[in-house]
Order: sequence, then C-alpha cells, then structure tokens
Amino acid sequence: MGRRKKIVNECERLMDEPENIRNIAIAAHVDHGKTTLTDNLLAGAGMISDETAGQQLAMDTEEDEQERGITIDAANVSMTHEYEDTNHLINLIDTPGHVDFGGDVTRAMRAVDGALVVVDAVEGAMPQTETVLRQALREGVKPALFINKVDRLINELQEGPEEMQKRLLSVISDVNELIRGMTEEEDYDWTVSVEDGTVGFGSALYKWGVSMPSMQRTGIDFGDIMELERSGEEGREELQERTPLSNVVLDMVAEHFPNPVDAQPRRIPTVWRGDADSDLAESMRLVDEDGEVVFMSTDISMDPHAGEIATGRLFSGTIEKGQNLYVSGTAGTNRVQSVGIFMGGEREEVDRVPAGNIAAVTGLKDAIAGSTVSSVEMTPFESIEHISEPVITKS
Ligand code: GDP
Repeated sequence: MGRRKKIVNECERLMDEPENIRNIAIAAHVDHGKTTLTDNLLAGAGMISDETAGQQLAMDTEEDEQERGITIDAANVSMTHEYEDTNHLINLIDTPGHVDFGGDVTRAMRAVDGALVVVDAVEGAMPQTETVLRQALREGVKPALFINKVDRLINELQEGPEEMQKRLLSVISDVNELIRGMTEEEDYDWTVSVEDGTVGFGSALYKWGVSMPSMQRTGIDFGDIMELERSGEEGREELQERTPLSNVVLDMVAEHFPNPVDAQPRRIPTVWRGDADSDLAESMRLVDEDGEVVFMSTDISMDPHAGEIATGRLFSGTIEKGQNLYVSGTAGTNRVQSVGIFMGGEREEVDRVPAGNIAAVTGLKDAIAGSTVSSVEMTPFESIEHISEPVITKS
C-alpha cells in the first residue's frame, strides 16, 4: 500500500473516533509565524515532505490560485499525530491574519475547539493577538500559547538567560492579562501556564520547540537551547532532531485542546441560539452521528472539476452523497454531490463523514461562508458579525 493510501485509511479510521479528533485554529498577529508553523506541523506529521516545508503551502496555494483563477482565503489542513500511543486526527482551520477579516476569523473560531495563539517573542502581544484571543474566547474556544522566534532573542538580541526568561514571562503575563480581561469570573480559568504545558516556545523557522513536558521528556533545557542555537547550523540541526517543533506543538494540541465530545456540550449553548431543549440541540451536544445533519460552513472554495466546495464543522449527523440539505437563508434544498475530509492540504472524497469532523462538501451551490446546512429546517448559527469595537493598542 502506498504511503498516501495509508494516510487516507488512517484518517478515515480516526474520523470515527471523536475522542481522538482535535479541531483547532492557529491564530496570530501578522508576521508572527503562523504560516511557517503550519508548514512545519504538516511536514512533521509526514503530510508534506520535509525538504519543501516552508515553501510547500505557499507554493501550492499560488499554483492553485493561478490554475483556478480565484483567491483561496483559507487553507484547511489535517494531519495525524501519535500521542501517548494513540493516534489523533488534527484538523486545522486557517484564520485570516488581517484584522479586517474579523468576520471570517469569528466564523473559523466557531468551527474549532482550540486555538493556538502564536506570538513573536520579540514583538510580544500585538493588537491582532488581542483580537484573535477575543474572538476565540467569545466562541468558547480554549487558547494555548506558542511563543515563536525565540532564536531571535538568542542570536539577534544576544540576550542572556535571565533577560530571556524575563521577556518570555512578560509575554505570557501580557497574554494572560488579556485572557482574564475577556472572560467572566465564573467562566473557566483559561489562562495559560508553562507548568500546565499550555505554553510552548521555539522557532518555527529553525523547526525546534520546547514546553515543560517536552523538557522533562528530552532533558533539553533553555541552557542547551542557547548553546546549540549559538553554535550555528549544526547546533540548530541537533536541536531540530532532539526536540522537533511539530512533536512539541502537536503533543500540546492532543493533550490540552478538547475533543468534540468534551467541547460540544459546553460550546453549543454559546455558538447556537436555537431551542436548548430540542432534540437537535441534544444531538449537537452529544456529537450524535445518527442525529440530524447540522453543518456550519466556514469557507467556500472553487474546484475546477468539483465546483464549489463548502468546508466546515459537522456538529451532528453524518453527511453522505445524495442527501438533500437545507441551506440557511435560502429556499429549498441542495443535493450533496460528494463529501470529503482533508489529508494534509488535499481533499479526499470518502463515503461518509460523521459528526465531530471538518468536512468538505460539494453540491451545496447555495451555501456561502457562514451558512448553516442541515437535514431539517433550523435556527441558523448566530448571524455573522464583524468585530466592530476598536482594537485597544498597548501603550
Ligand atoms: P504569518 O504572517 O504569521 O503567517 O507569518 P509567516 O509564517 O509568514 O512569517 C513571517 C516572517 O517571519 C517570515 O519571514 C518567516 O520566515 C519569519 N519567521 C517565522 N518564524 C520564525 C522564527 O521562528 N524565527 C525567525 N527568526 N523568523 C521566523
């Protein structure tokens, strides 16, 4: 069996184990390293070749854009990752980096249960860090923090261990201050901490990363990192080999982000305003694959062969070819032509996709980004709102 076929089979198997699925977003202020990190995760998970990571996503997108003559505004990618002897299916929904895309970011957040917030170690939390955190928390999405570009502290700023520690701690405390300011006291404590393992550090560019659990496992501490970073290419290669970024980040995702079964009972009342006592609400809370189909599209892209592809979160039911589904805000139904899931960055058609997954559906010609698509007429997910309050800049 070819390598790709194996991955396809494994993703199809995992799709039926909602406890082992993580639907997540990576969100960041522009240039803090979201794209570099995403490429790196895909390469680390074996979804794209190591040599081309760093250019692969960008290139694919450009080629696609040229071929299709359209703008692709969100890359949805999936990968598998083994954590504590169990394989996980990790679905990543892209969030547009620019603050003007507030509506799109909210929509993407509604479809995920965890958000990895990437912050540049040198710049610290910036206005869009605040915006994406606000959008995540508002949708009931659990945050974790990755402090990127730590190599710059070592090589460009030539910081010593104390200075570096002070800076990293101040980034964490700024982020926690934002989180505290955005959550009500009775909410969960979703502040991040090094001790809990909800904070990672590293360099997406040089492909190494650490967290408290990883340091305990590998024995590599900040002293080793400083020494190896400073010793040039060989040192960096050693770091990359001994404490690869993708392992550290994907372990954090598997360990700390909720799976759909844990997340949906808590999140449905936040993201959906319909009747909480209805069977529909119950089947969404339970991630019931035998319930009515409830799908929220986050993104529509165009494929030259398949036509419009609606990508989004399936909260309940099972999507299959041939179903007639209602699309919110339109009359009548659309017929599902095909359904797929993502493998790396590519869509792979499958026979059926059950609740808890990110699905790619063709045939929903009336759907737009944000549409609620369902097997019964229902209250749609909240109307799509743009974040209009001014972004508070740090002084
Ligand atoms: P995005 O806008 O958040 O997607 O950021 P990109 O991933 O495109 O990165 C922005 C720039 O920062 C690029 O030039 C990257 O090569 C660079 N970059 C990303 N991660 C790191 C890192 O860990 N260290 C350093 N030194 N540069 C990085």
